[in-house]
Amino acid sequence: MDVALVGVGKIALDQHVPAIMASMDWSLSATVSRTGKVNGVRTYRDFAQMLTDRPDIRVVSLCMPPVPRFTYAAAALDAGRHVMLEKPPGATLSECHMLAAMAKERGLTLFATWHSREAAMVQAAKTWLASQTLRDLEVVWKEDVRRWHPDQDWIWEPGGMGVFDPGINALSILTEILPVTIHLRAATLEVPEGRQAPIAATLDFIHPQGADVSAVFDWRQEGTQNWSIEATSTTGRMRLSDGGAKLEINGAVVTSNDKDLNGIMGEYPRLYHKMAALIADGISDVDLAPLRHVADAFMMGRRIIVAPFIT
Ligand code: NAP
Repeated sequence: MDVALVGVGKIALDQHVPAIMASMDWSLSATVSRTGKVNGVRTYRDFAQMLTDRPDIRVVSLCMPPVPRFTYAAAALDAGRHVMLEKPPGATLSECHMLAAMAKERGLTLFATWHSREAAMVQAAKTWLASQTLRDLEVVWKEDVRRWHPDQDWIWEPGGMGVFDPGINALSILTEILPVTIHLRAATLEVPEGRQAPIAATLDFIHPQGADVSAVFDWRQEGTQNWSIEATSTTGRMRLSDGGAKLEINGAVVTSNDKDLNGIMGEYPRLYHKMAALIADGISDVDLAPLRHVADAFMMGRRIIVAPFIT
């Protein structure tokens, strides 16, 4: 299938281009970019022009930040294209519900991707948790914003989500691996003076069987980066680390069974494999649970103003 990549920035170049190029299912037939390009691929500066000129391209993959993405997604669906959305799928829940309804009305596929759910050991963690009675679970997502988001001003603006930009990856894993639905009890948001979005956050969840479930996100982590989820059950403990790539159960490292991953290595190759399957099956995949928790934190969170963030 021909796909157009729209928004040729960090994630498009780091992950989407290599995943598409390596796939038997996909051909990168155009990019749409105001400034960037991919060598050997036709670049359009104007999205509407690409949609008009290239009826052969049935799929668009949108890699820009969440705030501008809705307009592009709605235009693509309106023009009869299947759409793949980077995470988070939108700046608001309403936008995402509107896009899902548009795709349904038009018989098109909309895929709200969550790349962290495709990390190698996420499904194994889910299987283990399904067999346990949970006592407590703690998410720790601590990284250095200067290292991972250099020169990205949009993350500090309304809709940029601040530390929830990586934190929503943790929430996407959490909502995938827990066998029950949790919801937010309370949150704190640490917002640097003069900025619109938090640099750190804590979340406390209500679990239907009373387990303690919490998360801490922090963008001020220098040195060793920590993207982990630790859980204790009535009979054992689990540690999912490296953003879902490594799993230890009762202290022993669990190795992955490649067959569970369709034989495809890597988060983004698996996302593109799933997109091909969704289109073939004529269905959408729009799970908004991670974004719902972020919205709840912004509604319920107690704001604390902290030191200004200087790049
Ligand atoms: P980025 O490099 O700052 O921006 C990506 C591209 O979006 C830009 O190069 C630009 O493309 C386009 N863009 C930016 N502002 C725009 C606007 N106002 N209108 C239209 N297009 C605009 O961001 P990124 O890191 O790639 O992140 C993009 C999305 O991917 C975010 O939702 C992020 O959460 C997600 N993501 C990022 C990472 C990561 O490691 N960075 C990992 C996973 C997911 P053109 O210059 O080509 O027009």
